[in-house]
Amino acid sequence: MASGGPPVYRGRIAPSPTGHLHLGHARTFWIAHGRAESHGGVLVLRNEDLDGDRVRREFVEAFFEDLRWFGIRWQEGPDCGGPHGPYSQSERRAVHQEAFERLRAAGQVYPCVCSRKDIQAAVRAPHAADDEPLYPGTCRCRPVDAVLAGRPVSWRFRVPDGEVLTWNDGGQGSQARIAGRDFGDFVVVRPDGVPSYQLACVVDDHAMGITEVVRGADLLVSTARQILLYRALGWAPPAFFHCPLLSDAQGVRLSKRHAALSLRTLRDTGAHPSELRAAW
Ligand code: GLU
Repeated sequence: MASGGPPVYRGRIAPSPTGHLHLGHARTFWIAHGRAESHGGVLVLRNEDLDGDRVRREFVEAFFEDLRWFGIRWQEGPDCGGPHGPYSQSERRAVHQEAFERLRAAGQVYPCVCSRKDIQAAVRAPHAADDEPLYPGTCRCRPVDAVLAGRPVSWRFRVPDGEVLTWNDGGQGSQARIAGRDFGDFVVVRPDGVPSYQLACVVDDHAMGITEVVRGADLLVSTARQILLYRALGWAPPAFFHCPLLSDAQGVRLSKRHAALSLRTLRDTGAHPSELRAAW
């Protein structure tokens, strides 16, 4: 690293290839792209392809095409390489595992046999509308050996109940979330060994030297969880910038179910990226 001066800005965009990108993704990614550019920094593209059941190769090809069409450019990624690869999460399992082993050795996580449904969902980023329910702590105090002797377990991070996590958000101002109230013990590894979104995201943002995470405001609670993971792993968290969310005409937050507002459909119906951006 060059000596003196502030560190080079490193941002990232992290699409999940579980559907086509919509206008909401485009706006968040456009902001991330603009911030990296205005800081004279680097934008990393990370393919968040851990959700084996829902990931499809065609969606990976589609997001590359859609992002380029929209005018978003990145300097490191699965397509162009870079010094911090691999840039697809499915190829980074060893790095995730190493971090998990550290959490485990430090007693920060415990095995859990509860709520299959939540655990299956853990690999996806929990957006505001479907954020994981507060875990009641059923397995928190059970003897580890007894839990491990049973069926395959997930591993949960033990949150410091009552602690207020605060950060100054670049997009949303000063933020505070209370552990044990706004979110509970969360899954870091699923029973099938796949790391959760929370763990994989923190490990990869750190390993890729990301200095600012730009993401949708639906992930504010996840950011509080991730700040705990940074601390537990002994890493300084990056800066955070949460973008306002886009809604449809009925006020419903855009999701991959809004096919009409997918970038492909917009392109096919003759929309132009600069016009779409002008409407923001
Ligand atoms: N892959 C995640 C998503 O699509 C990214 C979330 C994040 O930016 O951390 O929601």
